[in-house]
Amino acid sequence: MTPETELQAAIGQGAVLTEPADMARYLRDWTGVWQGTARAVLRPRTTAEVATILKCAAREGIAIIPQGGNTGVCGGATGQPGAFILSLERMAAIAPVNAVARTVTCEAGATLEAVQQAGHPHGLTLPIEIGARGSCTIGGVLSTNAGGYNVLRYGNARGLCLGLEAVLPDGTVIDALSELRKDNTGYALRDLMIGAEGTLGVITKAVMALHPVALAHATAFVSVPGLEAAQALLARLQNGSGGMVEAFELMPAHAVNMIRGHFPDIPAPLDSPYEWGLLVELAALSQRDAAPGPDGQTPVAALLEELLGAALEAGDVLDATLARGEGQRGNLWRLRESSLAASTAEGRWVRFDIALPLDRLPAFVVRARAALHARLPEARINMIGHLGDGNLHYSVMPVPGGWDAAGAALTEEIVLDLVGEMGGTMSAEHGIGRHKPQALAQRKDAGALSLMHAIKRSVDPRGIMNPGALLLPAAEERS
Ligand SMILES: Cc1cc2nc3c(=O)[nH]c(=O)nc-3n(C[C@H](O)[C@H](O)[C@H](O)COP(=O)(O)OP(=O)(O)OC[C@H]3O[C@@H](n4cnc5c(N)ncnc54)[C@H](O)[C@@H]3O)c2cc1C
Repeated sequence: MTPETELQAAIGQGAVLTEPADMARYLRDWTGVWQGTARAVLRPRTTAEVATILKCAAREGIAIIPQGGNTGVCGGATGQPGAFILSLERMAAIAPVNAVARTVTCEAGATLEAVQQAGHPHGLTLPIEIGARGSCTIGGVLSTNAGGYNVLRYGNARGLCLGLEAVLPDGTVIDALSELRKDNTGYALRDLMIGAEGTLGVITKAVMALHPVALAHATAFVSVPGLEAAQALLARLQNGSGGMVEAFELMPAHAVNMIRGHFPDIPAPLDSPYEWGLLVELAALSQRDAAPGPDGQTPVAALLEELLGAALEAGDVLDATLARGEGQRGNLWRLRESSLAASTAEGRWVRFDIALPLDRLPAFVVRARAALHARLPEARINMIGHLGDGNLHYSVMPVPGGWDAAGAALTEEIVLDLVGEMGGTMSAEHGIGRHKPQALAQRKDAGALSLMHAIKRSVDPRGIMNPGALLLPAAEERS
């Protein structure tokens, strides 16, 4: 009996896809950069079925690649020859919300948007805001420790997960489905699985913390004279609002122009010329800040207007458009959320998802540009990002148009050397996947890397969990 027929008998005929046409949509990522292959796609319905699959795979030495919504941008869920893709799409149940504890328990294949919507009747939501919310799953969000727009208020996915259930490569089920906010009973096994990109096991369920749905937003697009002024503006907004900032997104003119080139129906955010643009948003969680006054304006909108006015006087803001109504707000967000699609349509970039301490970001931008142009005079740079977290999505086309492997390697060396020198990270929120394990092996602290390998060997001695993602085989790393 082949492993496929054994699994068909154990988890059902329709749960094991082997026909190329049936498997096609699981094998190609949405950017088109990552195209994989697999011996089968498995679609279990229960944790017990996941355990059955992993036991079979461990016995046979077959690689397992967990897959949620396949929206990751580093090729972490891309199939490999001879591997099983384990899709969580049929494990999408969401339990009734615990409105008192403000938690929700769901299966790993539930989409982020579905979990958010489950909280809405209770005035609650899961405050992770990323463009892929309709397709990405809780398992994928946790496995990549996703961030998004409002990390500066709510933290990243790790900070919003209270507990989880996972299946280890030998089929052992770890029930760490805690609803507790305090639990000091030893190693943080939950945190081991979060950000592991499917290399230690399969997350099957999670308990997520919910927060109140914002009752009103105040949104603006502003231009600033430079990144130091942007930092001063962020501090002014945070201090002046008592921490109501939910988005502080860097949107330079070059990025806005590129996006509008691909989506010309999105209105220009400002009439005046500018180099540095920002999408900023405050969110009101209380009626006190959200209820409109006699003039129809909400206190949170009045506060944003007042704070931007003061920043304008201080010279930290050059111009600003305040969104009047949900239509204008929607246009500003559509501009921001179309960035990845527009840059993908533009061509192939060397992409970085870097973070630096906030105070070093302005110097990084100047130094990176100078270092790149010194050696690649025609390099094109595109930058957008979650500035409030020091996280830049920094992309470079080393030569105009087409793809140049040597230029890409040089770009990576220049940018990542500088990121390392300035105390930054090569992956802020997207993960390592199959995109950057070599760079991680070269640049991560040797002691930390060695401990990561020791954990991997101990949890997954046969190396069946997502091989090739995150960690290179230890032998390859030493060579
Ligand atoms: C338009 C767009 C915008 C985005 N914006 C952001 C953003 O602002 N911030 C951000 O952080 N990310 C962003 N992302 C990328 C983001 O990482 C993913 O959208 C999401 O976190 C991945 O979820 P997924 O279910 O699609 O995972 P997949 O792509 O299916 O998998 C991602 C990784 O997790 C592993 N994995 C998946 N499910 C499990 C599981 N149950 N158990 C163990 N391992 C698992 C996979 O093996 C893979 O290594 C964006 C993506 C898109 C397409």
